Amino acid sequence: MSLNSFTDVARALRKYSKVVLSSHARPDGDSIGSQLALGHTLRTLGKTVHIVNRDPPPPYLQTFPGISTIEQAETVTLDYDAAIILECGSLSRTEVDGLDRGAVINIDHHAGNSMYGDYNWHDDTAAACAEQVHDLIKELNVPLTSEIAVNLYVGILTDTGSFQHANITPRTFDICRRIATAGVNVAEVAATVYQNSSIGKVRMTGALLNQMQLCCDGRIAILRMDDSLLQKTGCLPDDMDGLINMPLSAKSVQAVIMVRNENMRIRVSMRSKNNIDVRQVAITYGGGGHRNAAGFSTTLPQQKLESELLKQVRQALDLTNRPKL
Ligand code: 5GP
Ligand code: MN
Repeated sequence: MSLNSFTDVARALRKYSKVVLSSHARPDGDSIGSQLALGHTLRTLGKTVHIVNRDPPPPYLQTFPGISTIEQAETVTLDYDAAIILECGSLSRTEVDGLDRGAVINIDHHAGNSMYGDYNWHDDTAAACAEQVHDLIKELNVPLTSEIAVNLYVGILTDTGSFQHANITPRTFDICRRIATAGVNVAEVAATVYQNSSIGKVRMTGALLNQMQLCCDGRIAILRMDDSLLQKTGCLPDDMDGLINMPLSAKSVQAVIMVRNENMRIRVSMRSKNNIDVRQVAITYGGGGHRNAAGFSTTLPQQKLESELLKQVRQALDLTNRPKL
């Protein structure tokens, strides 16, 4: 394990000719966009590229260039020189085995990366992993084709919450300027990502908000989801992206906890405003993420989990709202 940098990682990308790209389980727009953009780039450089993830891409990304090349597996058995891991604080986040049989290249922007690679570029100032991938593509002197640019844009658009999160910097807009110059139709991408869901998702929005629970003077919202609600609404499990953000549109709501009952486990997603740090809460349950968007899964009983969580998120809120001395 060693500490490396951007230039070391760029050099490593040049060096290896048979590569596997992977990202975290239940990949999101940034994982997929970053993988496809880097995949196109490395193929342009003549390399053999396989993109292997534990879970399929979310349905709203089905039309993005290269998406059909993504493979799904629990174990990588093919021959390769280097595994390039995007968007993962630890190798286990991929939930894919066999990624440590060659050099491991770790490219990530989440706080708390364990530097598990032979090469590591961890940049938590990047709003999206796609910003890091953009910089690498530039360093590798590969032209920003529209296929590459559109995938980078998906990563940035989704990981900034449609340009609303605090992770945005001037670098974000510099990169987006290059993306627009490459000919990407940004309105079309936004429509594909945000106006392309099943009617079941719209019904699910209503059902979730209908039974939303407000706590702590309306500052924390709890949303609960299970298989019966999926069946009732006709919403696909993969079609839940973004629903957690709905309560944040109210001024009074500072944080949202979404609890999803999945067979024997409970998946928890959290979102927050401003400086309220839900990542710290997720870490206490073995999860992670970003300050304003984090998650974990657990086998704790739901009632116990909810009351503990509520206490912790309330503490995170109180810490943030504490008057300055
Ligand atoms: P989501 O709530 O959309 O699943 O995830 C929000 C953020 O938290 C993402 O950055 C995601 O990578 C991270 N995250 C979600 N679940 C886990 C987990 O179980 N472990 C870690 N380390 N990060 C997670
Ligand atoms: Mn990301």
